[in-house]
Amino acid sequence: MNELFGAQLLDHLQSGIVLLNQETKICAWNQWMTRHTALDLEQVAEQPFAQLFPEIVTTRLQDCIHQALHFKLSSILTPGLNLAILPLYKNPKTPTQRLEQLIYITPVPRYMQMACLIQIHDMTATVRRERRLRAQSTSLIATTYRDALTGVGNRRRFDHDLMAFFTDARSKQQPLALLMIDIDDFKAYNDQLGHLQGDECLTQVATVLQEGLRQRGDSVARYGGEEFALLLPDADVDLAYSIAERLRTLIETANIPHPASRTKPHITISIGVSALIPAPHQTMKTLIEQADQALYQAKDAGRNRCLSYNPPQTDNRIKKTD
Ligand code: GH3
Ligand code: MG
Ligand code: MG
Repeated sequence: MNELFGAQLLDHLQSGIVLLNQETKICAWNQWMTRHTALDLEQVAEQPFAQLFPEIVTTRLQDCIHQALHFKLSSILTPGLNLAILPLYKNPKTPTQRLEQLIYITPVPRYMQMACLIQIHDMTATVRRERRLRAQSTSLIATTYRDALTGVGNRRRFDHDLMAFFTDARSKQQPLALLMIDIDDFKAYNDQLGHLQGDECLTQVATVLQEGLRQRGDSVARYGGEEFALLLPDADVDLAYSIAERLRTLIETANIPHPASRTKPHITISIGVSALIPAPHQTMKTLIEQADQALYQAKDAGRNRCLSYNPPQTDNRIKKTD
């Protein structure tokens, strides 16, 4: 194969080819490079590569060229890890977005010296497709954790957050609080105003709870039916109770009419509060059971109230024996 044919062949490649001599001066430059830079071989020949593209000076590409010429090391620069290094454009006359580049840097012996071959592949379509897929999968994951009716977290979100927060609380020996929230007399609400209105009400309550959260790290989820569960990392029982009381008041002041309620003429909620620093014998179940028990007591005590879990008092009295 003669040299002229070799050069013609390079011009037909669907990737960029640049050859640098030992002094990093350009000695080969194919048509693909001309197409994407608007510079032909005559304009760039004998120019040091970094002089033509000063912005490569502090990049990995510059290091890789050095390693190829001085240590005979090959390298690959992938588009995922490296921003589009070279100013290559689909249409360089109207340069908008750079081509995404996969770059191979290979040492090649030439006239008793070492030269550096740079091959550049246009990965724009692949990278865009990957980004689109990643965005789709991120939004799909978000959907699987969202309650379709109310937009807050679903039960899967709650289970996931509880596991993560409990593990964290255990390792840091910090408290974790749980608020179990239940709408009062919701069956009567549905019976009187219909399920669609009931659905609308659930969404309103969820929105008030979401907006009333203390901070971004708190998690609100629909636990099931007309029950919501809030996880409050690093909150002790007093703090959790004050947050619960604030949420209860927020729901009251939202003033959602509930003519069939036994407590007030508007929607109210009852909240069971539990908080603990996980001890070795305690599991996540403990936190849920305690909040459930407190919620049950809040209902029993007349609804529209918050109650904290009270550990049963141990009986220290000495029993009299005959
Ligand atoms: P309490 O004050 O003791 O909590 O009384 P309640 O009527 O709220 O409790 P109960 O458990 O008897 O009723 C819960 C109601 O919640 C029954 C059910 O129709 C309603 N519910 C559960 N999920 C949904 C839902 O997705 N949409 C609607 N509209 N209603 C629901
Ligand atoms: Mg219920
Ligand atoms: Mg209820």
